[in-house]
Amino acid sequence: MAKTTNGKKNERIMNLVTILVWQVAVMAILLGIVFPVIFFLSLKAVYLREQTATANTARTFVSDMINTKKKVISFASLSSGFLDERLADGASPALRGIPETAAPRARRLLSELLETFPAFRFFAFLSVPDVRPLFLEPYSLQGVLTEEQYRRGYAYREWAQKTKELFGVWDGRGLPPVYVSNAFLAQPGDLPGVSLSVVVDRSRRAAGLSSQSVSPKTDVAGILYGNIALEELSGFMRTLSFGETGIVYLVDGAGNLLAHPFVPTGVEVTNERGERAWSLRSMVDNPVIERGLRGDLCADIVRHQGSRKLVLATCEVVPETGWFVVVEQETRELFSTIQAYVLVVIAIILAGVFVTAVIFAYIARETAETAREHDELRVISETDPLTGLLNRRSMLSRMRNFLSDYAENKQGFVIGMFDIDDFKVVNDTYGHVFGDVVLREIAARSVSILRVDDLLFRWGGEEFLVVVRNCDLVRGRGIAEKIRRVVSDSPISDSSVSIRVTVTIGLCEYRGGSIDSLIIQADEALYEGKRTGKNRVIVGGP
Ligand code: GH3
Ligand code: MG
Ligand code: MG
Repeated sequence: MAKTTNGKKNERIMNLVTILVWQVAVMAILLGIVFPVIFFLSLKAVYLREQTATANTARTFVSDMINTKKKVISFASLSSGFLDERLADGASPALRGIPETAAPRARRLLSELLETFPAFRFFAFLSVPDVRPLFLEPYSLQGVLTEEQYRRGYAYREWAQKTKELFGVWDGRGLPPVYVSNAFLAQPGDLPGVSLSVVVDRSRRAAGLSSQSVSPKTDVAGILYGNIALEELSGFMRTLSFGETGIVYLVDGAGNLLAHPFVPTGVEVTNERGERAWSLRSMVDNPVIERGLRGDLCADIVRHQGSRKLVLATCEVVPETGWFVVVEQETRELFSTIQAYVLVVIAIILAGVFVTAVIFAYIARETAETAREHDELRVISETDPLTGLLNRRSMLSRMRNFLSDYAENKQGFVIGMFDIDDFKVVNDTYGHVFGDVVLREIAARSVSILRVDDLLFRWGGEEFLVVVRNCDLVRGRGIAEKIRRVVSDSPISDSSVSIRVTVTIGLCEYRGGSIDSLIIQADEALYEGKRTGKNRVIVGGP
């Protein structure tokens, strides 16, 4: 009965634990995974939209700046100051260009432009086809170019070819087309810059700005060239910086850095002759630029190779130049709220789990304590305090196993009822206290004969019931004789008394039926033994 109740209780507790575990798991998944993921995705979308807006601002600024400068140089190319036939002829290799006093109109125009548009570092007017500078403004030609540079023509000729190509395919409408180069290191000072160049066409003089298409392309007077320093752009990129890590930077179509809020665009290197020189800062290792150069404009989280930093980046192209505008922010800054949230959730869940575990441990301890107390009470209620034997009350529950063993495997058992002979005399002669000594001693001696599976009850005042498991009458008789002898063979003593005591035993074998009738049979055999002289074993039964 008690076992079933305990089983049900355990099952209920297990169900409760399962429900709790599921609750914690669902909570953990919802709060720890689903919410943060949704939170993260929405936040990312918001940040990307903001980045796109910033990138568009930067792109518009760069486009406007380039378009303005293109217009400036395009207009300038229409000045008749550059169309003087003698300019090219007057250029002398000995002077490396034309004298400073020559071409005053063109030079005045260019100085005014330099003042009005400080982004221009210098202008050059170059001869065709060898692209040698005829003059440089505002620098004096001699001081700027070495003889070697002058003879080789202007430092980089590729852009000159591109400028002429652009002019060659121009439809002749509006302003002459301007070629915008990628970044390069420009003389003087080896500073990174970009160039804008336009063909000066003799035939445009007549046509002016007419919208009428003319057919030029035959009468190239030279190339007008403007160099733009990139500091202005870097300054602008600085103004676009936002938050703790939000930056905007500009990279040209070859992957070189044009403008950055805090990273210098040029890199100082030592060349093979051991001289210090400048080089452009290549950004081709930057995953955003790497993708951009492949034509894939990303708007996503990428990891920088060097710093291993994770950034959310948006990349846009400036259509006029093919440059890349990149907006990026470190994810650490962006998603710190989510990180904090996840940490708090994990802390709450762990605390919950801990508190639940503590509560369960407490309940388990209390349950164990109750079970222990229950067991103790049971033992107390089933034990005879004088002898320490089982009492009469415990008989039914203790014998349940014997009966079920007999029902299942016909495993028999024998009971013996025994009673101390003339105990009243012992009590009367030596007193109750010594009587108790005798009772305890007989109980102890009898127990010493039995196996652990056997049972010994104190049945009444000086009556005992022994139950021998897995036993027939022959063996049972032997055990009963042993008990009888172990009692009678040696005297029972205390400090002052020593007497011999005997017991009479009535024995019966169980053969089905009720325990009560079995006990009556044993009792009858016992009284038969008393009647016939005591101190003996009598077998009873049907
Ligand atoms: P018989 O040989 O016929 O059994 O005679 P008897 O004297 O043993 O039988 P009787 O029933 O007349 O006496 C039993 C005595 O056992 C009576 C009682 O005082 C004594 N007795 C019963 N319980 C206890 C006990 O717990 N302690 C002591 N000291 N004596 C007890
Ligand atoms: Mg008696
Ligand atoms: Mg007696």
